[in-house]
Amino acid sequence: MNSSVIELRQTPGSELWLEIDSAIPFRISADCAGDMGPSGEPAPHRERVLKQSGFDPACVLGVRQTHSTTLCDLRSGPPEPGGVEADGMIFDISRFAAGVTVADCMPVLLMVDGSVVAALLHSGWKGTGIVVNAVDELRSITGASASSISAILGPCICGSCYAVPAERAELFRSRFGVDAGWRDGEGESYIDLRAANLRLLEEAGVARATVVRNCTVCDPRLGSYRRDGSEFRRMLAVAGPFGE
Ligand SMILES: [Zn+2]
Repeated sequence: MNSSVIELRQTPGSELWLEIDSAIPFRISADCAGDMGPSGEPAPHRERVLKQSGFDPACVLGVRQTHSTTLCDLRSGPPEPGGVEADGMIFDISRFAAGVTVADCMPVLLMVDGSVVAALLHSGWKGTGIVVNAVDELRSITGASASSISAILGPCICGSCYAVPAERAELFRSRFGVDAGWRDGEGESYIDLRAANLRLLEEAGVARATVVRNCTVCDPRLGSYRRDGSEFRRMLAVAGPFGE
């Protein structure tokens, strides 16, 4: 798999958003944009920020996230009133934007060469593996091979900041490889969501991955539950047509 590491930058003309590259239809709200509310539920502040930024909130798909590995198919549009529980959306990126809320968990966008069908995922430690389900789903819907899928791994907590109970690090190490879970010289255990997801994408046969290097804890522009505790603000990671 061909992978590259990239730095987030301020979206030109807006301090509320950070982006990867103007060619990649993926943005994340900055911590200063405030709490973007739980995804898939009404959140007046999120709607205000989206409107200010030129999005139609009604066209930004969302799900009630539960740290699962479940996907839902929203190619024909928003879910029924009341919403749907899932941590990934299959959607038509030419017609809709999709958003997941994150604060240390990893947002992931998967796109298929030559297709408008994409997947936006919320992948925390519990939901690690949702990328595999999404690759399978995209392959079966589009008929494309995994080698025509590219992945963008958004900002998340980095391995050095993600101290966890020893059993969790062991689980990550045994399931996702030696870079995904370890114990340091002082007996602290850590996991690395990026390493785990890269391993899974590589095994699934995905051709390209772009990895955002910014850590939600280390980068003050980003929101982090680990860093800010009960004062944390959820960020909204949005993929889709940005309409400018
Ligand atoms: Zn960090």
